[in-house]
Amino acid sequence: MVRYCSLGSGSRGNATLVADGDQALLIDCGFSRKNVLQRVLESECPVEQLQGVLVTHEHSDHAKGVQSLCEALDIPFYCSHGTARKMQWQSHELWRCITAEEAITVAGIQVMPVVVPHDALEPLQFVLRSRADRVLGVLSDLGSLTPHVLSHYRQCHGLQVEANHDPFMLQNGPYPPSLRARVAGQYGHLSNQQCAELIRASLWSGLQSVSAGHISEKNNDEQLVRQMLAQVLSCQPEEVQLLSQDEVSPWQQLN
Ligand SMILES: [Zn+2]
Ligand SMILES: [Zn+2]
Repeated sequence: MVRYCSLGSGSRGNATLVADGDQALLIDCGFSRKNVLQRVLESECPVEQLQGVLVTHEHSDHAKGVQSLCEALDIPFYCSHGTARKMQWQSHELWRCITAEEAITVAGIQVMPVVVPHDALEPLQFVLRSRADRVLGVLSDLGSLTPHVLSHYRQCHGLQVEANHDPFMLQNGPYPPSLRARVAGQYGHLSNQQCAELIRASLWSGLQSVSAGHISEKNNDEQLVRQMLAQVLSCQPEEVQLLSQDEVSPWQQLN
């Protein structure tokens, strides 16, 4: 049975744990080794079960603790050539090069890397398929919903997606104009509206669980995310699952 939990989500660090049977993988490690190991402990997933770390891109809120963690546990990390180049990992013995559209298997889980529009060298996001054919789509750090992205994230049983900002709060918030333009741009981050649009496009009878993360602390408000997603999910605002920066989320299981 595949299950997953967020060890933390937001601009100060991201990591998602995915486990199938007695094997697990991590998507991103944007926390220090010490911090992420504490969070793994809190999740109650035995750290020995970790088989590898998938890295979406080089931004420090995703990649900061990858090398240190993997060296300590002696497990491989997987990322694109562009990400490895930026991180100077090309000659690291634990690096495994992955390529968009070429599935790999880590911890018994089939991983499909998907190209996304984001201001990194070669960013990838991941669609995971468990042994029992349950599909989890993990998607953050992208500025726009391309037809390519939408086609890959259809028919997921679980979705963990980015709801980064409210456009009005961003435009009237504390960020300088250049950073504002970056976040709102085609290669920035998904707004609440874009998040809702992705979910709407991905609705189908098999969808069991949706959670929203990478929520900006300065340019968003949890109530706005809840209201926006409750509409598209036809649920109450308080039922919308949001990921937090500081808390390890409950496990979600895909049946
Ligand atoms: Zn990020
Ligand atoms: Zn990023």
